[in-house]
Amino acid sequence: MSPEIFKENWELVVGLEVHAELATTTKLFCGCLNQFGNEPNTNVCPVCLGLPGSLPVVNEKAVYFAMQLGRALNCTVNRSVFARKNYFYPDMPKDFQISQYDLPTNSDGRLDLPNGITIGIERAHIEEDTGKTTHIGTSGRISGADYSLVDYNRAGVPLIEIVTKPEIHTIDQAKAYVSELRAILLTLGVSDAKMEEGSIRVDANVSIRDIGETNLRTRCEIKNVNSLKSLGRAIDYEANRHIGLYENGESPKQETRHWDENAGRTRSGRSKEDAEDYRYFPEPDLVPLNPSKETITKIDQELPELPAERRKELLDLSGAKPSDIALLVERNHDSFATETITSGGSPNQVIKHLVNNLPDGLGQLTPQTLAQLAQMEEEAKITNTQAKKILEELVEQGGNPSNIAAESGFEAIDTSEVENLVDELITSHSDEWERFCAGEKKVQGFFVGQIMKATSGQADGKLINQILNERSAKK
Ligand code: ZN
Ligand code: MN
Repeated sequence: MSPEIFKENWELVVGLEVHAELATTTKLFCGCLNQFGNEPNTNVCPVCLGLPGSLPVVNEKAVYFAMQLGRALNCTVNRSVFARKNYFYPDMPKDFQISQYDLPTNSDGRLDLPNGITIGIERAHIEEDTGKTTHIGTSGRISGADYSLVDYNRAGVPLIEIVTKPEIHTIDQAKAYVSELRAILLTLGVSDAKMEEGSIRVDANVSIRDIGETNLRTRCEIKNVNSLKSLGRAIDYEANRHIGLYENGESPKQETRHWDENAGRTRSGRSKEDAEDYRYFPEPDLVPLNPSKETITKIDQELPELPAERRKELLDLSGAKPSDIALLVERNHDSFATETITSGGSPNQVIKHLVNNLPDGLGQLTPQTLAQLAQMEEEAKITNTQAKKILEELVEQGGNPSNIAAESGFEAIDTSEVENLVDELITSHSDEWERFCAGEKKVQGFFVGQIMKATSGQADGKLINQILNERSAKK
């Protein structure tokens, strides 16, 4: 494959580290609730507060989730050992984080992007989350803060940290990787994967090199990225910063940098520690995890159908746009779509409604009622606007689409009737008509609006436009 060019003669090299909170009921090493948004410091106990004499007990479900994700990412599930990662920071009451170091649970996997490119997965290990600090003061950051508050509800929440190989070479690939990983997490049900709530957090290791160069240059790790859009912007900014330095005869220094969304730039954070700074050593209070062959086989058998297969199935059935299909799989509406289409709903109408009109859920809607509605629309028994109104009712209360149409007085208005109305309007508004024929776009809205008014919104907007265009072509 020919290398992707980032800019002039430069190739972008990105490795991503994604932390995903596992959707367990309780924390990784104690029985405290794993719940977002509770009163600060209420989900805490001696274990997650690191009080002397307390001992961790590993959460079986968290381990299962981690191994399940590992298998979904084609990793080898290994014998793994927990390790203490030592550092001093107020959001970590023990002053060390229980993580995994040289023996992670999962290693050597891959993730296939929808466009066919494969990104290697270095490892996916289990670790505990830290607490959350809030810095009070005008800066909102630790430097210049008047004081800081700390909430330990998140301390000890189970995380899986998924680390790619430095094999991402475009911004689109980076975004596609995160969306695909999210889709897998959601399908497995191992994380709610909400970027905005911080249940998945993405760090990007960015460096740049000459096209054809094989070694890796100094990288910077960007933190604080909380949307796909920021991820793209942050990588772009950072790569250009590196190029600028090299072109000036300088080079970047290895460090952690923070993405500042408002300023649209990264800022220097702490200079990056190397592994030895953390003084890793095996966690003496926990035994290694050593899954048997049978356990791994069981996990494999229990793996649900993954997003890639689900997208392919719906694509084959509907022929819809890949981006629409990806969205429906992400919302978990793909099997509903399949059932609706196989119940006789036309794929176009079904996908359109599911994508555009049902982002908040399906309520009382069933595949059968949506199929019926789509059919009525396809046969032009009702207009698009009417279909949307019926759909709202079906979501709220259920029922039968043709009954709702009849009760609402939705009857298809004859094409000839609409034609007559258009012709009358043209005669009574000749000025507007001249302007329409001269190509003035906004007058179109006037004509459609008048006809809609005359028919109480029951005329088909597409039909009105079609008639207007026919009339002006003949003029
Ligand atoms: Zn606890
Ligand atoms: Mn980590």
